[in-house]
Amino acid sequence: MFEFQYLTPGQPVIFKDQYVTKVTECIKTYKHDAKGDIGIIGLPVSKSSISPSLAADAPKTVRNALHAYSTYSGERNHDFKDIHVLDFGDVHTHPTNLIETTERVYISVREMIQTNACKRYIMLGGDHGVSFPSIRAFHEQFGRIGVIQWDAHHDVRNFEDGGRTNGTPFRSLLDGGYLNGEDLIQIGIRDYSNAEEYHNYCIRNGVTIYTMDDIDSMGIVSIIQKETERLAQKVDFIYLSVDMDVVDQAFAPGCPAIGPGGLTSRELLSSISKAVKHPKVKAMDIVEIDPSKDVRDITSRLAAHVIIRFMYT
Ligand code: CA
Repeated sequence: MFEFQYLTPGQPVIFKDQYVTKVTECIKTYKHDAKGDIGIIGLPVSKSSISPSLAADAPKTVRNALHAYSTYSGERNHDFKDIHVLDFGDVHTHPTNLIETTERVYISVREMIQTNACKRYIMLGGDHGVSFPSIRAFHEQFGRIGVIQWDAHHDVRNFEDGGRTNGTPFRSLLDGGYLNGEDLIQIGIRDYSNAEEYHNYCIRNGVTIYTMDDIDSMGIVSIIQKETERLAQKVDFIYLSVDMDVVDQAFAPGCPAIGPGGLTSRELLSSISKAVKHPKVKAMDIVEIDPSKDVRDITSRLAAHVIIRFMYT
């Protein structure tokens, strides 16, 4: 039989360096009874967004962005190519019924946890509304959990004006009893992006708030170190919820709610690296990337680096 030497019909040509392992080479599709270090699931939901958003497309662009990077850390002189990641795929959402979609996200995250295939998990949003069913699923499996939320916004809006949206996930969790206010830490809350009512709601519920000013004066890495240690005294499971709009618009132009005065990409990455060093940090969601508004996938690429920092502790 005739075989081509260099030609693969119907396949893109991909350069392969024999000494380089790409992050995506260590990600395999989940199959029954498979075991891995980290599970990934896509939560492609953005119809619950207050502002127009195609964040439902982000699981695809973030996965693609992972292919741009290698498994080797020069700073740590270590190749993480032996970390096995299992990809559970994307949740099949309902085209019109948001309550049904929220339930499907909850059930799918719960099912992923119940496979016991992995010890740590990454959820790819989607808008921030997905954090409500996702954190609910972790709470019901693991009991009391702590949450560190990177976000420009409190996300505790009232339900009267719009129901459950990407502006309400933490109100849903606090009011529903799935999360204690004292176990929620908000990082990077920004001026002129919130309302007094929602600041007061957080304070009433015992939520710890760090504004951008606090980060300027205290340093984000020392804040994260202090808060992970404080949470770890109360809970056995810490969940990171990373809204990419915590990052300055210069570094994350693909967020629906962009603005100035946010974190640099280095501040985000160094704070994630610090958080994941604690063994009780076992899950992370990453949300609010709209690839249709992005520039050269800058925001998806930053999200890919956040994920790499989470994977390679
Ligand atoms: Ca948010």
